[in-house]
Amino acid sequence: MRFLSGIQPSGTITLGNYIGAIKNFVLLQDNPDFTDFLVFVADLHAITVPQEKEALRKNIKSLVAIYLACGLNPEKVHIFIQSEVPAHPMLGWILECNGYIGELERMTQYKDKSQKRQAEGVSVGLLTYPSLMAADILLYDTDMVPVGQDQKQHLELTRTLAERFNNKYGDTFVVPEPFISPSGAKIMSLQEPTKKMSKSDPNPKSFISLLDDINVIKKKIRSAVTDLDAKVKYDKENKPGISNLLTIMSCCTGISIPELEEKYKDSNYQTFKEDCANAVVNELEPIQKKYNEIINSSYIDEVLDSGRDYANYLANKKIKKVMNKVGLGRKTK
Ligand code: ATP
Ligand code: MG
Repeated sequence: MRFLSGIQPSGTITLGNYIGAIKNFVLLQDNPDFTDFLVFVADLHAITVPQEKEALRKNIKSLVAIYLACGLNPEKVHIFIQSEVPAHPMLGWILECNGYIGELERMTQYKDKSQKRQAEGVSVGLLTYPSLMAADILLYDTDMVPVGQDQKQHLELTRTLAERFNNKYGDTFVVPEPFISPSGAKIMSLQEPTKKMSKSDPNPKSFISLLDDINVIKKKIRSAVTDLDAKVKYDKENKPGISNLLTIMSCCTGISIPELEEKYKDSNYQTFKEDCANAVVNELEPIQKKYNEIINSSYIDEVLDSGRDYANYLANKKIKKVMNKVGLGRKTK
C-alpha cells in the first residue's frame, strides 16, 4: 500500500500541522502494511499566494529539517520537493482540462483564501490548486492520503477527477482514500478558536510555530482566547478555546480528554493553561534540539537527492502512461 502527503512551505510549521499531519506520518511509517511512503514539500502550492524568494527557499529547507527532526526516517520515507518532479504540474494541467470551474469554485479553501486576498488580487493558481493536489496524489497510485480535516474536500475532488479520467480513458488511476486521524485533525487558532490554526495567518499569536522560542510558546498558550465560565470542560460549541487546548494537551501527552477534564475539574484556567503550555514545550523541545543539529548539515541534501530520484522514477513512468491514454506527444512504450 502506498501513502503520500505534503505540506506547503508557506511559513513555519505550526502545532496544527504537527498534530494533524507530521505526528501521524511518524506513526504510520512503522506500519508494515505500507510498503511505500512519500512525503513532499509542496512548494508549487505555496506560490498560489505571493512568497518572498529568500523566505521560500528558507522555508523549504526548514520544512525538510522539521520532517527529519520530528522523526521521519529517510530509510522508510522518501522525502522530496514537489517542484523537482516536473510531472506534477504536467499531470496537474491534464487534470485541469478534465475538471470544471464550478467544481473548483465550490472549494471552501478557495472561498476563504480568495476572500482574504480580494484587495491584492486572487491568482488563477489559488483556484486550480486542487487539480495540482490531485496530480500530486494520482501520479503515485497513492492508496491512502493522511490529511487534516481541512483537506477532506480536496481529496473528494481528487477521487472525482480520478474516476472521471478512468471512465473516459480506461483504468489509469488508483482512487485514493483519506486517512484522517480521529483526534487532532483540526487544531484551532489560539486567538479565534472557531477558525483553524494556519501557518499563513497574519497574526503570529494565533499559532504556535514548531520553532518558536520556549518562552514565546508558553506566552501564546497563556494568552489563548478562552471563555469566562472558568470550567475546564470539552464543549466545542460553547467553549471552543478550552476545547482546543484540551485537544492540544491530549495530543501532546497521550492522556485522553475525559481524563484531563477529571484532573482539572477543580482547577482554574491559569493552572490548566500552565500545564498545557508545559506539555507542548515537552513535546517540542526535543524536536527543536534535533532541528538545530541538522539544519546546516549536508544530510538534508542527501535525503532530498535520493527522494527526488525515486519520485521522478515513479512519476515519469506514470505520466508516460497518462500521455499515451490522452494521445499527447508521440506514442511511447
Ligand atoms: P496555509 O495557511 O499556508 O494553507 P496550513 O497551516 O493550512 O498552511 P498546509 O500546508 O495547507 O498548512 O497543510 C499541511 C497539512 O497540515 C495538511 O495535511 C493539513 O490538513 C494539515 N493541517 C493544516 N492545518 C491544520 C490544523 N489546524 N489542524 C490539523 N491539521 C492541519
Ligand atoms: Mg492549508
